[in-house]
Amino acid sequence: MDYQISRDFAAQQDELDPLKGYRDKFHLPDLGREQSIYFSGHSLGLQPKAARAAVELELSDWARYGVEGHFDATNPWYSYHELLTAPMAGIVGAKESEVVCMNSLSTNLHLLFVSFYRPSAHRYKIISEAKMFPSDRYLLETQTRFHGHDPDDAIVEIYPRDGEGVIREEDILEAIETHADQVALVFFGGVNYFTGQLFDMRKLTAAAHAAGAIAGFDLAHAAGNVPLQLNEWGVDFAAWCSYKYLNSGPGNAGAIFVHERHGMSFDIPRFGGWWGHDKERRFLMESGFAPMKGAEGWQLSNVAVIGMSILKSSIEIFDEVGMDALRNKSEKLTGYLEFVIDSLAEEFPDAAIGIVTSRDAGQRGSQLSFDIAGREKDIFDKMTAAGVVGDFREPCMIRVAPVPLYNSFQDVYTFGEVMRELLAEGAG
Ligand SMILES: *Cc1c(COP(=O)(O)O)cnc(C)c1O
Repeated sequence: MDYQISRDFAAQQDELDPLKGYRDKFHLPDLGREQSIYFSGHSLGLQPKAARAAVELELSDWARYGVEGHFDATNPWYSYHELLTAPMAGIVGAKESEVVCMNSLSTNLHLLFVSFYRPSAHRYKIISEAKMFPSDRYLLETQTRFHGHDPDDAIVEIYPRDGEGVIREEDILEAIETHADQVALVFFGGVNYFTGQLFDMRKLTAAAHAAGAIAGFDLAHAAGNVPLQLNEWGVDFAAWCSYKYLNSGPGNAGAIFVHERHGMSFDIPRFGGWWGHDKERRFLMESGFAPMKGAEGWQLSNVAVIGMSILKSSIEIFDEVGMDALRNKSEKLTGYLEFVIDSLAEEFPDAAIGIVTSRDAGQRGSQLSFDIAGREKDIFDKMTAAGVVGDFREPCMIRVAPVPLYNSFQDVYTFGEVMRELLAEGAG
């Protein structure tokens, strides 16, 4: 695509955008600053306008029916989570039997590790990317220790090479081969939260399986951001949260994927709760845990319906748009952001602006991470004051994500103008 730095060009792209109508389905924050550019959908997605009515419906059904709402509410609470399954399965490329919404992300990963990280004395290593999100790092440390292994020995972290920002796939594949006799699990963030690197999950899964290991993914930054085909890729398990690209509101319920080849294996160790017990017999309140078929057999508790009502209104939008159309716009929009940042880098060589995220659209989602030699925090604070909402991660990374559902080409253009002004000040 031939990009141009001009308001007219951006406005024209917005006019041509088949998804332009979706921006109006969200509340765009107005922080009372000069501009209002929201580039933090990778951290907390925006509120769908439909969320309020969805919550109000559950509140009024609760007021009206009390406990009878479990069966008599407009959307009966007893089976409410089932309404989420089809759209959520569509977002991650799974069969409905492979997905269920429950708990939150870190909790779900621990539950899945109970089933899928079962190390032996010889096969106990976990291969993962360096600089994982801290919660995932703590997950790996505590899980390996729980099984009696030393995290420093058991966790094999793959780093970018010296002077490089992202990890080379060949280095991951080589590590899997090197540790083939000892690796129990290959566990990656589908999209790394820090650098925005998108991993080839199909390849990593195949390599893990060839080594006799399990392949699991944290899709916090991938779900709703990039197209996924978890079933086809043969991924063993995955979990994700719903409040980033999926716009379900702070701390809302997450979801899990368990491949169908495991979903019917009732002898896999797991922790049980009444919600994962055979649905037909759940209210018999008997002993003898008999898990449901598929991912639902990993549920423990009934899930907060008010939260799920927002999640429902949000993922219905994804169901309507489809991940292919979203991805199509996302590549153009993030490509435009890349072009804008590159032209700032050229205009202000002293600022040494460097995009860390891959230049290959196939290896990234919406997010670009960049640094500005030594001035990140200063520029970032001024950028925020001017009304651009992105985020800053220590030691020196600015992360911005134009989200195709509600961001526009003009947002990207305006972002560039704000940055140009700030950089020009600094150059003086
Ligand atoms: C956002 C995020 C989390 C958050 O975990 P919660 O359990 O939802 O608080 C965990 N891991 C990754 C990779 C994330 O990006």
